[in-house]
Amino acid sequence: MNRLRLATLWLDGCSGCHMSLLDTDERLLDLAAQVDIVYSPLVDAKDFPEQVDVVCIEGAVATDADEARLRLARRRSRLLIAMGDCAVTGNVPAMRNIMGAEAMLRAVYLESRPLKPQIPADGLPHLNEQALPLHHFVPIDLFIPGCPPAADTLFAALGGLLAGIADLRLDTRFGA
Ligand code: SF4
Repeated sequence: MNRLRLATLWLDGCSGCHMSLLDTDERLLDLAAQVDIVYSPLVDAKDFPEQVDVVCIEGAVATDADEARLRLARRRSRLLIAMGDCAVTGNVPAMRNIMGAEAMLRAVYLESRPLKPQIPADGLPHLNEQALPLHHFVPIDLFIPGCPPAADTLFAALGGLLAGIADLRLDTRFGA
């Protein structure tokens, strides 16, 4: 049997969705028997590889770099999963959309009190005007809401894909 080539990608998110994936605990061993994790914050791979079967993506798209990474993952992956509310709706990163990127950076880095003005040595990050969910940029094959999605839900999704189930009915909901 061919082993599934699985990747995970971390865009503008808090890493909570990846933590939930790790919360599948000993079931990770079952997964490990059937998949190769070819790219992820959880493994030491530097470049997103070719011919990925499934990529689970956490976080919204908040920068040009996020968008480039997302588009590369889309080109090189058969199935793309929006993992968690930030990827599905924008969620927490999108809370700054109402004021815009520049005003948000000014408020956080220059006007915050009692914080002293703090600007990183290499300057402020270049943020897109809005943080947006993945489907604004590329087609998505599966949306898994939740902040974060439950470990059981993520395991059910990956297990279903491994079993070749085309019509997954996942127990998901937005928010916690
Ligand atoms: S959906 Fe929730 S847990 Fe996942 S990255 Fe966003 S804020 Fe974090």
